[in-house]
Amino acid sequence: TVSLYLVPTPIGNLKDITLRAIDTLKSVDVILAEDTRTSGILLKHLQITRPLQSYHIFNEHKAVEKLVDRMKKGEVFALVSDAGTPAISDPGFLLVREVIASGLHVQCLPGPTAFVPALVNSGLPNDRFVFEGFLPHKKGRKTRIDSLLEESRTMIFYESPHRLIKTLEQLAEAFGPDRPACVSRELSKLHEENVRGTLTELVHYYETNPLKGEIVLVVAGCPEVKETREEKQEKKHAAWKKNN
Ligand code: SAM
Repeated sequence: TVSLYLVPTPIGNLKDITLRAIDTLKSVDVILAEDTRTSGILLKHLQITRPLQSYHIFNEHKAVEKLVDRMKKGEVFALVSDAGTPAISDPGFLLVREVIASGLHVQCLPGPTAFVPALVNSGLPNDRFVFEGFLPHKKGRKTRIDSLLEESRTMIFYESPHRLIKTLEQLAEAFGPDRPACVSRELSKLHEENVRGTLTELVHYYETNPLKGEIVLVVAGCPEVKETREEKQEKKHAAWKKNN
């Protein structure tokens, strides 16, 4: 039996809740919510009346122990975040890890999350990709960007509207101005917009177009440099020399 369900909730369109999400939320003893007010509205809409308890990043460490104790005694919980899949750039990871370590069962339901539609809408290669979440705001920001200089897989970033232009400019400086990218705004909402272009084109676009709402930035990986036959030969030669 499952002690903890992670239940994805819509990222903008209420119709994206799944039938199984509704069933699960109705069946648990307690619903843990990042923000009980936000989730309260959704639950009311779905006519779900299970007890709500707050679970947010500020009390995560302390809360985990108590919750696991209650699970051991047989209580079943569902965790929801304000939008999308819990634990994806949202609280939840610590709880999942602890529940697993205690030998109890965790189950994350499939459902809404922002990065999957953004990746697919971008039209950039999606056979391999990296999810980078939010870039650090200040400390460690440059180091993080530099660590991606040779990343050849498509990169996905969560970003706030007021920081997007700065991020596009910094990525253009690091990766080069012509790197293809896509900004997905307001996914699944009335004014959903997917703007594709080079990093520089996107900077220009958003300097003159409204930039509000929620945003996912998808950036192509760096083109893999093909070694010439001479370079390969040279490498082999160097390796041989080292071993002999
Ligand atoms: N747990 C969520 C998920 O599964 O995608 C992510 C939570 S994170 C705190 C919020 C960020 O997700 C936003 O800043 C934005 O980058 C992205 N996001 C959420 N909803 C979105 C939407 N409708 N359109 C575009 N981006 C969205």
